[in-house]
Amino acid sequence: MSNQLSYWELNSFFDFDVIIIGSGIVGLNAAIHLKKSEPSLKIAVLESGFLPSGASTKNAGFACFGSISELMEQERICGWENLAALIDKRWKGLLKLKGILGDKAIDYQPLGGYELFKNDDISLYETCVSKIEHYNQLIKPIIGSNTFFIDNNKIKKFGFKSMYGLIANRYEAQIDTGKMMFALTQYVQSLGCFVFNNCEVEEIVNETSLSVKTKQGIFKTRKVIVTTNAFVNKLIPDQDIKPGRGQVLITKPIKNLKFEGTFHYDKGYYYFRNINDRVLLGGGRNLDFKAEETTTLGLTPKIQNALEKLLKEVILPDTDFEIDYRWSGIMAFGNRLEPIVTETSPNIFCAVRCNGMGIAMGSQTGEDVAELVLKSL
Ligand SMILES: Cc1cc2nc3c(=O)[nH]c(=O)nc-3n(C[C@H](O)[C@H](O)[C@H](O)COP(=O)(O)OP(=O)(O)OC[C@H]3O[C@@H](n4cnc5c(N)ncnc54)[C@H](O)[C@@H]3O)c2cc1C
Repeated sequence: MSNQLSYWELNSFFDFDVIIIGSGIVGLNAAIHLKKSEPSLKIAVLESGFLPSGASTKNAGFACFGSISELMEQERICGWENLAALIDKRWKGLLKLKGILGDKAIDYQPLGGYELFKNDDISLYETCVSKIEHYNQLIKPIIGSNTFFIDNNKIKKFGFKSMYGLIANRYEAQIDTGKMMFALTQYVQSLGCFVFNNCEVEEIVNETSLSVKTKQGIFKTRKVIVTTNAFVNKLIPDQDIKPGRGQVLITKPIKNLKFEGTFHYDKGYYYFRNINDRVLLGGGRNLDFKAEETTTLGLTPKIQNALEKLLKEVILPDTDFEIDYRWSGIMAFGNRLEPIVTETSPNIFCAVRCNGMGIAMGSQTGEDVAELVLKSL
């Protein structure tokens, strides 16, 4: 393929100052920060899919920074101070995303978020309630006021069944993921960066000079940033990354849908929200961790049936509904909570592992890796 390229094509389309691999939220934000800081840089983003094909166009659109049960688990792993730093990053990341694109472009809706507790999760509910003050104190210096409060009256109003308790987060919001990624891609292009789709990187070659091999040809470059998230080990082996597939479904529009907001259920293993009178519901990885630890998109009856059952019995017990679409996306998890942002070998940088919270962390993570590259120029 590459030997069919013209002299002109090779010189103008295959030679860049910086190549970013992956056009998810992290890669696009890296491009934005680099180009705004150094407008003279010639930057390309190479994406294997026709559209971004990992997590950024597949997610649920929760602009979230942690429910109480998630924060408890995270504090156990990293301690109070590190958790405060992480929440600060998540919150500032959300403000950054809003600042770059504006609320309208991403359809930002501050409708609040809720953690739901089942009838057989009473002791978890009580523990979480006892931690409300603790986490309000942790978050107050970051956001400015109390975040969490008990909101059990809403269980009836929202029409949920078999639910014991509900803790609200007044600062959680929702966005339209498709609009966000469309606007981000347009913005990157408007700044003068080139985005190539259907351009899977097979290998990064770092010998006398740096180049990136694809089926379309070999790109020459001075710096490479790998933002392929769950797929990173194919290009930079031995990163602490495990893929996690997330399966999702969405209903057809429902008349008089009783609730709005973002909802976390069963310690965050399930999540649902309203969107344009529909219900989007995802999760259930805990039913089959082994099978869902994959980089292959796909749906399984086990998880899809569990999602439907949850809709029928708990979320929409008294409402007729029809499923409209189903899809999946691939996330990246690891032993540590913060993203990996580093120079893995000379001139090759990596920014991956937003741990399932890329809407909050993606913009900052992209900016952080761009800063590393700028310092190295
Ligand atoms: C079902 C689901 C629900 C989620 N819900 C939420 C949510 O509500 N809120 C939230 O904050 N986060 C959520 N997330 C997580 C969030 O979407 C991710 O943290 C975020 O999108 C990660 O962005 P990224 O840019 O690091 O990776 P990705 O978006 O995965 O981007 C990596 C890109 O690299 C490309 N790529 C891979 N290999 C190559 C290669 N060799 N050459 C070229 N390109 C390559 C992929 O096609 C992909 O487009 C969810 C994720 C899923 C899957």
